[in-house]
Amino acid sequence: MRNKNQINPYDICTWRPISKCNDCIIKGYLKCHFKIRYLLNFIGLFLLFAIPAVAGVILAGYGWFLLGWIAFGIIFFEFWEIRILCSHCPFYAEKGRSLHCFGNYLSLKVWRFHPEPMNRSEKIQLFVGFFIFFGYPYIFMFLGRQYIFIILYSISLIVFFGLLLGRRCPRCVNLSCPLNRVPKKVVDAFLKRNPVMRKAWEEEGYVITS
Ligand code: SF4
Ligand code: SF4
Repeated sequence: MRNKNQINPYDICTWRPISKCNDCIIKGYLKCHFKIRYLLNFIGLFLLFAIPAVAGVILAGYGWFLLGWIAFGIIFFEFWEIRILCSHCPFYAEKGRSLHCFGNYLSLKVWRFHPEPMNRSEKIQLFVGFFIFFGYPYIFMFLGRQYIFIILYSISLIVFFGLLLGRRCPRCVNLSCPLNRVPKKVVDAFLKRNPVMRKAWEEEGYVITS
């Protein structure tokens, strides 16, 4: 049997045995354990906007430029976003080289875990990265006058962010993400169960009030 510190060096509750959750007052509120259906749901959300984007850029006659989108996606999600966003997430705290969560599943963890909350610069960078990533297909659809696909892509992004903000962000464990909508009393309860994160958050000025 593995010592818990071999898989859970920061003693984050997400990676403790599930039996330790029995006395948790926020049990069932957060998506704090990996489930394959959460991952499949996220892949479905991703395809929702990726399909009209790819089709629109190809029909516009700029299909080769999708390689630039893929390249930016790899750089952003594998190196940039994973540092500014995911390295603060409880899922990232598991020991090992790859991520096991319902977003960037199996991404390489090239950075160390950061138990402190995201800072302002990281939050701004996240929006800059999103702007570039989601904006890129528009350039080529406009150049190729694919107005139907511009509308379809725009609607798909509205649905994507609507479902993200409405269904996932209110229960996501990456509590300092600027899109996170978990109530403060739940954040406080989570931090109380995670001393390493609590200490790092309090050192950044966070105050537990409940
Ligand atoms: S917040 Fe932590 S202790 Fe509570 S149910 Fe989730 S993983 Fe378990
Ligand atoms: S922020 Fe999302 S994608 Fe990143 S590690 Fe956490 S659950 Fe996974």
